[in-house]
Amino acid sequence: TPTDAAGSEPGAAASSAPTPVIEFVDVEKSFGNNVVLKDLNFQVARGERVTLIGPSGSGKTTILRLVMTLEELTGGYIYIDGQPLTHHKRDGKRVPVSKKEQKRLRTRIGMVFQQFNLFPNMTVLENIIEAPIHVLGRSKKDAIAKAHSLLEQVGLPEKADSHPSSLSGGQQQRVAIARALAMDPEILLLDEVTSALDPEVVDDVLNILREVADTTNVTMLIVTHEMGFARDVSHKVMMFDGGHVVEEGPPDKIFTNPEQERTRKFLSAVL
Ligand code: ADP
Repeated sequence: TPTDAAGSEPGAAASSAPTPVIEFVDVEKSFGNNVVLKDLNFQVARGERVTLIGPSGSGKTTILRLVMTLEELTGGYIYIDGQPLTHHKRDGKRVPVSKKEQKRLRTRIGMVFQQFNLFPNMTVLENIIEAPIHVLGRSKKDAIAKAHSLLEQVGLPEKADSHPSSLSGGQQQRVAIARALAMDPEILLLDEVTSALDPEVVDDVLNILREVADTTNVTMLIVTHEMGFARDVSHKVMMFDGGHVVEEGPPDKIFTNPEQERTRKFLSAVL
């Protein structure tokens, strides 16, 4: 394996505890002088579904984008299955991991975006089979078979040959979910996936995700303003403000009996 650091390196992973699927250790992220995240530490266990809530600008999307390596970390460490995603810690120094290793880890992570981000010049089917074939090296036949079964699952079996531009927003988002699932991700990142949709199709998309949550063991990190959905699917809710965790706990606790005034205020504004 490309790294000898797996298992021993991450700060918080104790010897007997299972290795977290995602671990943030002293994470810092700045954009220029704007420090968005500072000293952020948390872990997500295998199969756990964690929802990040909090006001706009509190750093939630940045956290997902860091896991997807769409943003560069400016401090600290992120580990995926105990393996450093962007930097090793070596003799107290931060040493970058190779691009190859980063790419390998990233194939385990799928992300669904607010704005769908389908490839506009490809059909629905081509969108779904692209990465399984070119990144995972699957056969075209297998990738196509899996794509059809996923299109069935998201309720769009007849759209394989359509182009994204001919689909509604809700349909495009269902294709984006199928595309992410086609990679058999270990981690699924959901970034406000219903925020750009017409209200009447929001539930269709959320129900598909509820089913994914019910029928798979995929680890999920979710940013959403849909508090009912967050309550249904999350094992844990983390309330953010200004890049800090204000409080965290099981959804029943956070939504019905939060400890912090900041959380109460936020929830009374969105519920
Ligand atoms: P949230 O998802 O909670 O709304 P974000 O993670 O999107 O918050 O943003 C947190 C902060 O980071 C905001 O102040 C935002 O302006 C800033 N930010 C996010 N992305 C960028 C970027 N690409 N360039 C500069 N600033 C950014």
